[in-house]
Amino acid sequence: MAHLQKLVLICFFSIIFKCMDKVSAQTNNPEKNRPNIIFIMTDDHTKQAMSSYGSVINQTPNIDRIANEGIRFENSFVTNSICAPSRAVALTGKYSHINGLKDNRDEFNGDQMTFPKLLQKAGYQTALIGKWHLKTTPQGFDTWKILPGQGAYYNPKFIENGDTTKYEGYVTTLITDFALQTLDSFDKEKPFCLLYFHKAPHRNWMPDSKHLSMYDSTEIPMPETFFDDYKTRSAAAREQDMEVVNLYNSFDMKIHPVGDEAEYSGGNKAFKEKAKKNWAQVYNSLTDEQRQAWDAAYEPKNKAFNAANLSGKELAKWKYQRYIKDYLRCVASVDENIGRLLDYLDEKGLAENTVIIYTSDQGFYLGEHGWYDKRFMYEESLGMPLLVRYPKEIPAGSTSEDLVLNLDFCSTILDYAGVEIPGEIQGESIRPILKGQKPEQWRKEIYYHYYEYPHGWHNVKKHYGIRTNKYKLIHFYDDIDASELYDLQNDPHELNNIYGNKNAVKIQHEMEQKLIKIRQYYKDVD
Ligand code: CA
Repeated sequence: MAHLQKLVLICFFSIIFKCMDKVSAQTNNPEKNRPNIIFIMTDDHTKQAMSSYGSVINQTPNIDRIANEGIRFENSFVTNSICAPSRAVALTGKYSHINGLKDNRDEFNGDQMTFPKLLQKAGYQTALIGKWHLKTTPQGFDTWKILPGQGAYYNPKFIENGDTTKYEGYVTTLITDFALQTLDSFDKEKPFCLLYFHKAPHRNWMPDSKHLSMYDSTEIPMPETFFDDYKTRSAAAREQDMEVVNLYNSFDMKIHPVGDEAEYSGGNKAFKEKAKKNWAQVYNSLTDEQRQAWDAAYEPKNKAFNAANLSGKELAKWKYQRYIKDYLRCVASVDENIGRLLDYLDEKGLAENTVIIYTSDQGFYLGEHGWYDKRFMYEESLGMPLLVRYPKEIPAGSTSEDLVLNLDFCSTILDYAGVEIPGEIQGESIRPILKGQKPEQWRKEIYYHYYEYPHGWHNVKKHYGIRTNKYKLIHFYDDIDASELYDLQNDPHELNNIYGNKNAVKIQHEMEQKLIKIRQYYKDVD
C-alpha cells in the first residue's frame, strides 16, 4: 500500500513539474512575450483637431479609440517644434544639439544609435513606412518604404529599400496599404516594431477625393485669439511670417493664379514664385479623374471668391475657412485609415500584445494668434498629442498630467522591448506612468530650443525656454535679445507677457535660475 501511495505521489508531482516547466518555458520565451510596437506619427496633427482632446471643430472617432482603450497625455511636449528635428529626437532620445539635427536643412547622421537599431539587434523585426524626411538613408530597418522629402498627397513616389516607384492614389491610404502589407509579411513567431509615419495633415493640405466637399455646409468657429495684436510681446511674435491671411492663394488656397494681384496678399515675397510653381506641379500631377473631382469641388467656390474681391478681416476670415476645412479633411482621412489599422489588429488577434503609440511630430496653429505652422514655444505648437494603448498594462480610459517629451519615446520603446537603455540617452521611460505609477522623481519642468532662423520658412526667431506646470519663460536671441514670461494658469492663451513686471520679479528670478540649471543638465551651454 505504502509502495502504491509512493508511486501515485511520484506520478502526481512529475505531472505538476511538467506543467510548471511548460508554463515557465512560455513565460521565459522572449519571442512570445515581448510586445509588438506600432509607433504612429502624423505630421502637424495638433490636439485642437482631435475629439479625444475635446476638439470643438471635428471628430476623430478612430484615433479616439486609442485614448478610450488606453491613456491620454495632457502635458506632452516637443523639444524643437519642427518636422525633421522632432523625428531625430524621437529616434535618438537626445536633444537636437546632441543628435546634430537642429533644423530642416540638416541631414540626419544615421550612423548614431537609434531605437530601431537596438530593437533590430535584440531580435525585433523592424519596418518604416511613410514619411521619413531625414535626408539620409534609413538605418536599423529590415524593410522601409518612404516618401522622398515631403512627398506628394496625390500619386506619390515611394522609395523602397533604394528603388523609387510612383503609385496612383492618395498618400494616406497608400501608406496604410503598405503598412498592412508589411504587418502581413512579418514572421508571426517574432515581435515587430513598425514605424507608421503619415505625411498628412502637413501643408498644403490636399484632401482625398472623397472628402473634398466635407464641411462645405458649415462654418468652422475661429479661435478667440485669431485677431491677436501681440501687444505685450517681443518683436518675434510680430515679425513672423505665418499668418493665415498671408497663405498663398495658389499653393495653399488652391486658387489658380489670375495675374499677380490674385496670387499674393502679403507675407514673404521671396516664396511667391515658388508657391505658384509648386501649385502648378501638384495640380498637373492629378489624373483626369482626380482633376474632375477636384475642379467640381473647388472651382465654384473659387469663382465666388474671385468675384467677392475681399480684403482686410473679411479676406482673413475666408482664408481661415479654406485653410481649416482642408486641414480637417486631411485629418478625416488619417482617422479613417487608423481605423483600418486598428480593425486589422483586432482581426488578426494582435491588439492585446501590441503597444500602439499615437503622436504627431509637433503641435500646430489652427488660427490661434492668427497663425498656421508651428516653431514657437507657445502652447499650440509646443504641445503634441500622445495616446498609448497596451491592454496588458495600461488601464483603459486613463489620463496623465505629467510632463512628458518626445525625448522619452526612445527609452520607453526600449523599455517595452526589454532592451537595456543606454546611459547616453537623455529621455526617460514613461512606462511606469503608462501603468499608472508615477515615479517619485519625475521631471517638474521641460526644456525647449528652436533654431531655424533666419534661413528657411516663416521667419521665427531663434529661442529657448523652460516650462513648468504654472509658468513659461522664453528667451529669443540672435538678432534680438528679448524675454517673455507667462502665467499659464491665469493666462492660458499667452496673451499677457509679464516679463519685467514689478509683481513678477520673484517668479521671473526663479524661472531664470531654473533655465540656467536645465540648460546645464541637458548640456546645452555655449
Ligand atoms: Ca511637422
